[in-house]
Amino acid sequence: MFDVIIIGAGTAGLTAAIYTVRAGKTALVIEGNAYGGQIINTPDIENYPGIAHISGFDFATALYKQATELGAQIKFEQVQSVTEDGDGKTKVVKTSANTYEALSVILATGAKNRPLGLPNEQKLIGKGISYCATCDGMFFRGRDVAVNGGGNTAVEDATFLAGFCRKVTIIHRRDSFRAAAAEVERLRAKDNVEFVLNATVTALNEGDDGRLSSVTVQDKISGEARELPVSALFVAIGQMPDNNAFANLVDLDPKGYILAGEDLKTRTPGIFTAGDCRTKTLRQLTTAASDGAVAATAACAYVDEVR
Ligand code: NAP
Repeated sequence: MFDVIIIGAGTAGLTAAIYTVRAGKTALVIEGNAYGGQIINTPDIENYPGIAHISGFDFATALYKQATELGAQIKFEQVQSVTEDGDGKTKVVKTSANTYEALSVILATGAKNRPLGLPNEQKLIGKGISYCATCDGMFFRGRDVAVNGGGNTAVEDATFLAGFCRKVTIIHRRDSFRAAAAEVERLRAKDNVEFVLNATVTALNEGDDGRLSSVTVQDKISGEARELPVSALFVAIGQMPDNNAFANLVDLDPKGYILAGEDLKTRTPGIFTAGDCRTKTLRQLTTAASDGAVAATAACAYVDEVR
C-alpha cells in the first residue's frame, strides 16, 4: 500500500513525487512511456525561473534523478483503470502488468498531440508527417519542410528546423500568434523561413515513393488553394487530454480536461490532479511544477487524515 500513486512522470508528476517523499510519504510514479513528458522534446528552455538555458532532455533527466534519488519508485507500465475499493479509502490502480493500492492518487497524465484529422495522416506518420521536430527534424536536413500551428511549439519547432533545413514554411490559421512575441520575432529574423498565414492545410499528398511530397494549403480569406512541395510537415496544433479512463472518479470539462479546485482536489476524495491534464489557463513548465507541489501537499494532508 503506497501513500500516494502518481500517474504520469512529466514535470507535474515528478514534482509531485519530490514533494510527496520529502513529506515523509511513500510515492509510486507510474508512466506509460518515457519519463519527462512533453518537455523532453524541447530543444531549449528559456523561461524556467532561475535557469537561463537548459535542454528539455537535461531538465527532465535532472527531475527524474531528483525524484528517484529522494526515494520515489517508478514503474513504466500503462495504467488501465483507477477504482475505489469498498470503503472508498483504498484506491486501486490497475496497469497492463500489475495492480497497486494507495490511499491517494494524483492524476498527472499530461496531454497528447492533436492530429490534423486529414486522410493519409496516419499512413504518412514516419514518412513525412511528424509531431516532434526535435525527434525527427534531422531526417530532413537540407530539405524543404513545413510546420503547422501558431503556438509556442510550432514557432519553436520552426526556429529549430530553420537551423538545418533549406527552407521552413510555417502555416498558421490566423495572422497573429499564440506563441510568445519574442519567439515569433526570432523566427521572423530567419531568412529561410516563410510565413503562410490565414491558411489551413487541407490535404497531405503522397508521392510515388509512398512518402509525403506536398501539402495543399488553402487561404482562408481568398479561398484559393495551392500545393506546397515539402518533404515533411511537422504538426504542432496543440494537445488534447486523454482522461476518459478516469471519468468514473473525476469530472471532465467539455474538452476532456479534469476539473479541480485551487487545491487540485477532484470530485472524489483522495483523487487529485496536476499539470496539463487539468482545466487551466496557462500550461507551462512553471505551472506544471507548481501544480505538482500543490497536489502532493494536498494528497499528503489527505493521507494523514484518513490513515
Ligand atoms: P497551443 O498553444 O494550444 O497552440 C496550438 C496552435 O495550433 C494555435 O496557434 C492554434 O490556432 C493552432 N490550431 C489548433 N487547432 C488547429 C487546427 N485544427 N488546425 C490548425 N491549427 C490549429 O499548443 P502548443 O504550441 O503545443 O503549446 C501547448 C502548451 O505548451 C501551451 O500552453 C504553450 O504555451 C506551452 N509551451 C510552452 C513553451 C515555452 O514556454 N517555451 C514551449 C512549447 C509549448 P489558434 O491560435 O488560432 O487557436
